[in-house]
This record gives sequence, C-alpha cells and structure tokens, in this order.
Amino acid sequence: MSLELFSLAGKTALITGSSRGLGRAFAEGLAAAGATVILNGTNSERLSQACKEMSDAGMKVDMSLFDVTDEAAIKAAFDRFDAAGMQIDILINNAGIQFRKPMLELDTADWQRVIDTNLTSAFMIGREAAKRMVKRGHGKIVNIGSLTSELARATVAPYTVAKGGIKMLTKAMAAEWGEHGLQANAIGPGYMLTDMNAALTSNPEFDAWVKARTPARRWGRPDELIGTAIYLCSDASNYVNGQIIYADGGMISVL
Ligand code: NDP
Repeated sequence: MSLELFSLAGKTALITGSSRGLGRAFAEGLAAAGATVILNGTNSERLSQACKEMSDAGMKVDMSLFDVTDEAAIKAAFDRFDAAGMQIDILINNAGIQFRKPMLELDTADWQRVIDTNLTSAFMIGREAAKRMVKRGHGKIVNIGSLTSELARATVAPYTVAKGGIKMLTKAMAAEWGEHGLQANAIGPGYMLTDMNAALTSNPEFDAWVKARTPARRWGRPDELIGTAIYLCSDASNYVNGQIIYADGGMISVL
C-alpha cells in the first residue's frame, strides 16, 4: 500500500469554470497532485491571468475558452484536444451560476439559463469526455452538486432543480459507463467563500444564519474541497461510483 494511490501524475484534467472560485481551487489542488490541468471559463482576460499565475507558480496548466452551454463550442474544444494529442483523463463539471428570484417572478428564459449552465452542460461535456474515456477503458468524472442537490431553498428554484439533477446525472453516468472502467461521482459543497456568495457573505443576517446552521460554525474555504476532489479523481476511489460527497461543515446532517 502506498499513497501513490492518490497521485495524479501523468493525468490531464479539464475543469470547467476554473478561472476563479471553487474551480480554481480544484485546478491548483489537482496540479499539486501531479496533473496537467486545462482551465476553462468565458472571460478571456480572467482565464489568461489564472493560467499565467498557475504557470508562474510552476504548475502544468493550459486553457480552453468556451461557454459550457454552447454545444458546438464544446465539440470544437474536444476536437482541438484530440488534434493536439491531449487525452482528458479527468473531467470536473464545475461551471455554474446562481441568482435569487422567487418563482412567481421568474421568467422561463432565466429558468432555462440556470438549467443549461448548471446541468445540461455537465451532460454535454460529460458525453464528449466519456466517448473518449470509454474507448480507453478508464476515466474520472466529478460533477459539482450542492446542498440543494438534497434540500430546497426559497428563491433558487432552477438552481435547486439543476443540482438535484446533477446528483441523478452522476448516478446515470455511473450506471451506463461503470462497465467501461469509468467512475462518476459528485461533490456537494456547503456555503463557500467565493464570488458567487459575495452578496450573501456581506449580508449580516445571512452570514449569521449560515454560521448558526452549520455545525462547523463558519463558511467553507475553496481549498477545503481539494482533498475530496483529489480522492475522487484518483485511483483511491476506483470502486466508488455514483456517489455524492457533501463537504459542507456538517450542514446537511442537521435540522
Ligand atoms: P464563481 O461564481 O465564483 O465562479 C464561477 C466560475 O464558472 C467562473 O470561473 C466562471 O468563469 C465560470 N462560468 C460561469 N458560467 C460559465 C459558462 N457558461 N461557461 C464556462 N464557464 C462559466 O462560482 P463558485 O466557484 O462559487 O461555484 C463553482 C461551482 O460550485 C458551481 O457549480 C456552483 O453552483 C457550485 N457550488 C458553489 C457553492 C458556493 O457556496 N460557492 C456551494 C455549492 C455549489 P467566467 O468568469 O469566465 O465566466
């Protein structure tokens, strides 16, 4: 037995939405475990800057600018990986958006945008990655869920539906692709300190609610998800398939 089991040396990982926030932490964590990471996002300047910072810090990093809701752009990105001889061993479907609006005020276009960005993207990118992984007989997919994969909260209905869908998409991927040597699992983060929550962390009432409701009595830091991600992307989890691991300071376990 050796901790080589957790090594990602020689692996290439595509991480969507990795210019900042949780995706950036996953990228730095996987790179530290030995992987070459491909960063993704829609903002070219932010993506180039993230790539430069990681490269300057000695990490093996590349970038692929595309919108995760654009099917043609996804296919073109995978064609470019193929042409460059880049094999995607690991995919983290992390890109996501959230905004708060009661359902009675929500229009269908906003509903659809959240479902497309947070759920349909994971299917489309997962399908492209898995086509290649199935041929090779191995591959790791990690989908980013949420506490709302399990629990509903007012004002975030499409987000809740998308993240509930992520949980079941992960199981569907495991069911269909497990026999080909692939593992698909998910991480359900709790309330984390990222741009997505900027308006909430600066709201004293919401901040107090999160701290009171979370057994850890604090928000989570992006780097606190890295260990779970490395585990699910490495050989250490080869017999774990279709699971969602909540990394949430214990929040989902208490009323
Ligand atoms: P941030 O808003 O901090 O970052 C979002 C990232 O996703 C950015 O890199 C952004 O890149 C990218 N992105 C957004 N839309 C697209 C798109 N259409 N195509 C490609 N990239 C896109 O979010 P977090 O880091 O907080 O969240 C990351 C994931 O974790 C999401 O799926 C979120 O739902 C989930 N999550 C977050 C929690 C939290 O408390 N923060 C809790 C539970 C789950 P760019 O700026 O270039 O568009």
